[in-house]
Amino acid sequence: MAQLSDDCFAHGGRLMRVDEARELLSKAITPVTGTEPVALHAALGRILAEDIVSPVDVPPAPNSAVDGFAVFHADLDPYEETRLPVVGRVTAGQQDLPAARPGAAIRIFTGARLPDGPDTVMMQEDCIAEGDAGDEHVIIKPGIRKGANAREAGEDVAKGSVVLQRGQRLRPQDVGQAAAVGRREVVVSTRLKVGLFSTGDELREPGQPLEAGAIYDSNRYTIHALLIGLGCQVNDLGILPDRPDVVRSALDEAKADHDLLVTSGGVSVGEEDHIKAAVEALGKLHLWRLAVKPGRPIALGQVGRIPFVGLPGNPVAVVVTFLTIVRPLILRMMGGRDAPPHVFRVRAGFDHKKKKDRREWLRAHLVEDPTGALTAQKFPREGAGILSSLVAADGLVELPEDLTRLEAGAMVDFLPFSEVTQ
Ligand code: AMP
Ligand code: MG
Repeated sequence: MAQLSDDCFAHGGRLMRVDEARELLSKAITPVTGTEPVALHAALGRILAEDIVSPVDVPPAPNSAVDGFAVFHADLDPYEETRLPVVGRVTAGQQDLPAARPGAAIRIFTGARLPDGPDTVMMQEDCIAEGDAGDEHVIIKPGIRKGANAREAGEDVAKGSVVLQRGQRLRPQDVGQAAAVGRREVVVSTRLKVGLFSTGDELREPGQPLEAGAIYDSNRYTIHALLIGLGCQVNDLGILPDRPDVVRSALDEAKADHDLLVTSGGVSVGEEDHIKAAVEALGKLHLWRLAVKPGRPIALGQVGRIPFVGLPGNPVAVVVTFLTIVRPLILRMMGGRDAPPHVFRVRAGFDHKKKKDRREWLRAHLVEDPTGALTAQKFPREGAGILSSLVAADGLVELPEDLTRLEAGAMVDFLPFSEVTQ
C-alpha cells in the first residue's frame, strides 16, 4: 500500500491560518488507499477511482417526452385546429416502428422511439382523438412549437463523454448516472482503515456507572460517526488511560492494521497530556497551532510510518478541527478531489465581536425572516465543551480573519452540517 512521505506534517510551529494549513495538507498528502470494484448498490458515498466514460448515447434514440401524437410540424395549421389520420402506434420499448408519413399522426407514449419523419409530439391532453381502431383521427390545437416534446438522441449524455470523474464522492444521483450509461460496477478507492481512541482517566463508557469526577466519553462516538460519514472503516479501540506506558504501547500496537490513527484529548500542554510524548517516542509529532476559534492545537504526526491525528479533548473543538483539517486530510488520503465545501450567504441575526487574524466559527441555527430569507441565529453560549450547542445548531457561521465586528443584518458565510458530515 502507498504511504505518505516521511514527516509530511512538518511545520515550524508558527500560528497557522486555516488556508495555509489546508494548502500544506493538500501538498503533503497523497492517496494511500488502493482501488476495488464495487457493485452499484454498494457505491454510495465511495470515492470514484476512475473516470466513467459513456459507451452509449443517452437516450440512445430520439423518443417522446409525453403520451400523445407524433406529427410533422409542417402539417400543422398555425392558427386553426388540424385533423390528421392516425396511422400507427408505438409504445416504450417497441422495436419495430410503424412507418410515418406527412399528413398523418402516430399514436406514441412516453419513452417510445420516434419513427423516422415526425419532429414534434403533441401531448394527448391537448388533442381530441376520434374514431375507432382502423379509422382513427386526431384533432390538434394550433400553436405548438416545432420539436416540442421530442427528445433527441444523446441530449442527456453524448457517447464518449465523461459522466463522472475520478475523485468525486458518489451521491445517489451519481450512482444512477453510472447505471444510466450501463455500468454494473464502478472502481472506487478502498476504505481508509482508521484506528480510533479516546484518552483520559475521567472517561467512562456510556452505559457504565458514573462515579465522582467521571464523564461519559462522547468524542469517540462523534468522531466514529464523522469517520463513517466519510466512508472510512473504523476500528473503535476504546479509552486510553492517562498513563504514558499504556498510551505508547496501545498506539504502537495499533499501527500494524491501520492507515490512520486518531485520538482525542491529551494533546494540550498539561502534565497529564501524554499523547504528545508517546507519539514523539514512536515517530514524529507536530503541534499545528491554528489561528481559529474554537480549537486547540491539533497534533499531526506519524506512529512509525502511519499518519496520526491527535484531536483536542473539548467536544466542540473536536468537531470544528475535524471538519476543517481531518476531513480534507482523509478525503485526500482516499483519493478524493480537493473540493472545499459550499458555504451559503445568509443574514446574521446577531451582533458579534471577534479578534482579528483568526477565523471563527459560531454555532448557529437558521430561521426564516418575514420575507422568507434565511437568518442565522447564534447559540447563546460559546464554550468549547458545550456539545449541546452543536446539537441545537444547523451549521457554523464562518467569520473571516480580517473581521473584528459583525453587526446584525450583515451577510455571513454559513456552512451547513449537511455539507460536511456525510
Ligand atoms: P484534554 O485535552 O484531555 O485536557 O481534554 C479537554 C477537555 O475535554 C476536558 O474537559 C476533558 O474531560 C474533555 N474530554 C476529553 N476527552 C473527551 C471525550 N472523549 N469525551 C468527552 N469529553 C472529553
Ligand atoms: Mg485528558
